[in-house]
Amino acid sequence: MGRVVVITSGKGGVGKTTVTANVGASLAKLGKKVVVVDMDIGLRNLDVVMGLENRVVYNIMDIIEGRCKISQALVREKHLSNFFLLPASQMHTKEDVKIEAVDEIISIIKESFDYVLLDSPAGIENGFRSASSPANEALIVVTPDVSSVRDADRVIGLLENNGIEGIALVINRYDPNLVRKKKMLDSDDIVDVLSLDLIGIIPEDKAIIDSENRGEVLSIVEKTKAVQAFSNIARRMEGENVPFIDLEPEKKGLFGIFRRK
Ligand code: ADP
Ligand code: MG
Repeated sequence: MGRVVVITSGKGGVGKTTVTANVGASLAKLGKKVVVVDMDIGLRNLDVVMGLENRVVYNIMDIIEGRCKISQALVREKHLSNFFLLPASQMHTKEDVKIEAVDEIISIIKESFDYVLLDSPAGIENGFRSASSPANEALIVVTPDVSSVRDADRVIGLLENNGIEGIALVINRYDPNLVRKKKMLDSDDIVDVLSLDLIGIIPEDKAIIDSENRGEVLSIVEKTKAVQAFSNIARRMEGENVPFIDLEPEKKGLFGIFRRK
C-alpha cells in the first residue's frame, strides 16, 4: 500500500508543482514506484513542467467519468521507467471534481505504487479539499516571506482537522544573502512560527526556471545544490537521517580566507 502525500501551500506560486516533480523524480531515483497527480490546472501544469504534454491522452476526470482505465491515463516519464504522471483535465473546473470520486481513484492507484504525490492548487477551496482528502501525509511548501507563512498556517489547521498526520515543511527559494540582509525570513523563524518538522530547504536556483521552461525535471537532468536538496527530502521521507546542506555561497578572496581561519 503506497503513501499518499499532498503537496500544498495556501499561497500560489511558491513552488508546489516544482516540489512535486522534483521530489517525485528523486523518490523514483531511489527506486520507488512513483506517480505524481496533477490536481491543479495552472499556468505551468505538471505535464508541461515534466515535458510530457504531448503524451497526454486521458486525464483523471476521464477515469472518474468512466472514459478510460487508470492504466490508460498514466503517462510514463521519459527517463525514469518507475515514474508516472496522472494529468489534470483542462476541460473541467475545480468545482466539477467530486471529492469522493477522487478518494476512490487514489485508493485504487495507491495499491500499485510506493508513493502517490498530489500537486494541490492554491487556496483552501474545493480544489485544495479534493487534493488533500485522499492524503495521509502532507508537504507544506513556503517561501521565506510573511504572506506565504501566514497562508501556510491556515492550511495546516485545515489539514490537521482532516486527520492528516505527517505534515512536514519545505522552505523553497531560500537565499542566505537575502536572509542576512533581513529581506527574507530566517528558516529557524519559519519553523518556530509554523511548528512543523522541517524536511528540506531548497535554495533559489535559476536552473529550476530554465529546466521547467525546457520541459525537463531538473532532478533528472542536472546536479545542482537544489537537486541535492530535493534528493535529501526524498531520503528523509524514506526515514534516512540526512544532514542539512550548507547553502552559504562559497567564500571567495581575502575575506573568505580570513573567515575560514
Ligand atoms: P506553484 O505550483 O506553487 O504555483 P511553481 O512550482 O509553478 O509554483 O513555481 C512558480 C515559479 O517559481 C516557477 O516559474 C518556478 O520555476 C519557480 N521556482 C520554483 N522554485 C524555485 C526555486 N527554488 N528557485 C528558482 N525558481 C523557482
Ligand atoms: Mg502549481
